[in-house]
Amino acid sequence: MVSPPPARQRDRDRPRAAPRLFVEAPLDPGARFALTPDQAHYVATVMRRRAGDALCLFNGRDGEWRGRLVSVARGREAEVAIEARTRPQADAPDLWLLFAPVKRAPVDHIARLATELGVAALRPIVTRRTVARLNLDRLRANAIEAAEQCGRLQVPDCAAPEPLDRLLAAWPGERRLLFCDETGGAPAAEALGSPRPGNPGPWAIAVGPEGGFAPVEAEAIRALPQSLAVSLGPRILRAETAVAAALALWQALLGDWG
Ligand code: SAH
Repeated sequence: MVSPPPARQRDRDRPRAAPRLFVEAPLDPGARFALTPDQAHYVATVMRRRAGDALCLFNGRDGEWRGRLVSVARGREAEVAIEARTRPQADAPDLWLLFAPVKRAPVDHIARLATELGVAALRPIVTRRTVARLNLDRLRANAIEAAEQCGRLQVPDCAAPEPLDRLLAAWPGERRLLFCDETGGAPAAEALGSPRPGNPGPWAIAVGPEGGFAPVEAEAIRALPQSLAVSLGPRILRAETAVAAALALWQALLGDWG
């Protein structure tokens, strides 16, 4: 069981905003369902909500809805009744993040910041210098918690780690790939051009492991016609810093920050 990240504890101090939860169930007026034991614990014990209190729910498909706690029992069981939709479903940019699993804490960080920065899918890649094993349940738990906190309407897909060469061999033709290349990428503004509002179409961003991509891997990424090697400045960034920098760059120039 993945323990809820400390960020959830911060919720307690926030003004009485309705606790916001990601659920799998369909959301329509009158629907009723049980929260998971972890969700019930969070709502009843961490947020100290009682029957009759409001909740805010989203499932990645039906938009955001107001719900009402119908019952809470022993802090591990809670039932919610769905009342009304408060926000229509909206899409996130079609942006994948390819990252090589680094140690656990940075991966937690990557999951949260990539979710807050709007990626549609987290695609862990296995490269020659990948040293860490990835806990997929933990990756998804962090992504869900970040999506609940930042107000987005979907949780990024969290894929199982995939060898880089297999991913490149099956690379989708229309998807561009921003390759974060500390060995010689082009300056970002030159590579991506000036800010362009509107739908940039499908993209991906690739960041390597702590030891970087092996030369043969960097070559293979550069050989992809859809790839664009970009520099993130003169300093060597840690993987999670590079993820944040590259996502901010992409969102500012091509994404939904416009
Ligand atoms: N090979 C580096 C460490 C890699 S840092 C070293 O010599 O120590 C991990 C990843 O972050 C890199 O593979 C790259 O994808 C990205 N990155 C780090 N600094 C970068 C920079 N200045 N420009 C572009 N990408 C960078």
